[in-house]
Amino acid sequence: MIGDKLRGSLNDQINEEFQSAYLYLAMSANCESQNLPGFANWFKMQAEEELRHGMRFFQFILDREGHVALQGITAPPEEFGSLAALLEDALNHERQVTRSIHDLYRLAEEEKDYPAYALLEEFATEQVEEEKSVTYILESLKRVGEDGTGLFILDKELAGRGAAAGAGG
Ligand code: MG
Repeated sequence: MIGDKLRGSLNDQINEEFQSAYLYLAMSANCESQNLPGFANWFKMQAEEELRHGMRFFQFILDREGHVALQGITAPPEEFGSLAALLEDALNHERQVTRSIHDLYRLAEEEKDYPAYALLEEFATEQVEEEKSVTYILESLKRVGEDGTGLFILDKELAGRGAAAGAGG
């Protein structure tokens, strides 16, 4: 069994992961409409990864005989300003997710829920990668600027992202 407080927060985390997927889908659509298929691909892959993250928490609660209570997803923005602003939003979002994972970890510690440690350690490590990869794209974009050859090449690089490994596979 799982404690009520931790279960409630894990349910919130399902929502946060699905909310992330929705945000990245909106970003993917936005990039595609700007004729940036590589950026669009990268965010679509990211969205799929977030769905897998959500399913990990979903299954973990059920495996521990907990009750899953799905919550509503709010609509993400349709406009993000510049491409750099869009990536800043993505980075800030990942930092928020990192804080949520750390809060969950603290709660698991309080409740001495050892199986949750293992899951959340994996996600804490995953968040290091998430922040690192968004930072890389943002910094690369700042270096090359938002038009011309540099952006063309960066978009080609991001087109190469396939289904990612990491927490949730
Ligand atoms: Mg995630």
